[in-house]
Amino acid sequence: MNNADVDISDIKHLLTFYQALGFDELPIALCDIPSAAQGYDAVVSTCDKGSLLEELRAEIGDCQRCKLSKHRSKIVFGTGNPCARLMLIGEAPGREEDLQGQPFVGDAGMLLTRLILKMGMKREDVYIANIIKCRPPMNRDPEEEEIATCREFIDRQIQIIKPQVIMTLGRIALQALMGMPNLRITAARGHFYDYKGIPLMPTFHPAYLLRNPKDKVLTWADAQKVMARLAHA
Ligand code: URA
Repeated sequence: MNNADVDISDIKHLLTFYQALGFDELPIALCDIPSAAQGYDAVVSTCDKGSLLEELRAEIGDCQRCKLSKHRSKIVFGTGNPCARLMLIGEAPGREEDLQGQPFVGDAGMLLTRLILKMGMKREDVYIANIIKCRPPMNRDPEEEEIATCREFIDRQIQIIKPQVIMTLGRIALQALMGMPNLRITAARGHFYDYKGIPLMPTFHPAYLLRNPKDKVLTWADAQKVMARLAHA
């Protein structure tokens, strides 16, 4: 197969075919769809994202790069669609995440899942990861040195996935990604920032929202701005 085999009329025929079968949307809807100019090479690079993430995970290995490795059960690398248009980035795994090796699977994770559904997506459509891949003891805030050690991996995950929008969850993820230790979540949320050319929307951490449910409405407002940005991306 070469570039000449990918034609916009082929895509139109395929979509008409699925429409005739009664589909309203396709499971590939959240993947990059290459422009005619990008052609087949772009399809290949989209599919490569999964293997690039696997390679990165293998490179992290049984990480002993910082002291968090001593207490963790499992490394929580990240999960979801390697060609997601939306990436959600939290702080660090909690107890449940540490046991299961998956991000946001505890109570805060349930709230996050509800937000994703409300945004018209499923968890499998987006990519969810944390700044820090190992649980800090007693869920304390990650230390600067721990963030600095782990930081390269979230940067590389973003570089591979190339999402159209990033949502950071809570203060730590925002400050770490933007490299701005004084940014306050209450002031920053609701406004797009620029992370290496990708729009980044800060919002509250779901664990904070469990304690302060009245602020859920603010996170929903932030999510709506993200949805609008995705709709026009
Ligand atoms: N809080 C986070 O920041 N990340 C998780 O994965 C779970 C809770």
